[in-house]
Amino acid sequence: MSGIGLDIEPPRSTCEDPYCPFHGTLPVRGRVFVGEVISARMQHTAVIRRDYIFSIPKYRRYERRRSHISAHNPPCINATRGDWVKIAECRPLSKTVSFVIVEKL
Ligand SMILES: [Zn+2]
Repeated sequence: MSGIGLDIEPPRSTCEDPYCPFHGTLPVRGRVFVGEVISARMQHTAVIRRDYIFSIPKYRRYERRRSHISAHNPPCINATRGDWVKIAECRPLSKTVSFVIVEKL
């Protein structure tokens, strides 16, 4: 068995990052989201904006909501601001980071 358990092309470049799901030892499990990178100025961490619709049963309408998720940005993927990425849940890597970028879309 190879790969990280998701139906994803592994990145073409390689890296030495232990927190990389492809080249390190970080397992991913749980939720998977797609979002846009709004900031990649931290070291190996990016902020991803996720847009979703929220149902309001009383009015039978939806409202648009968005959330910001901090995610680990492995050097082999190296997402930059404006990229659309797929992020997968992993164990907590820091106080705010428990997702890792697994694919640039
Ligand atoms: Zn890597």
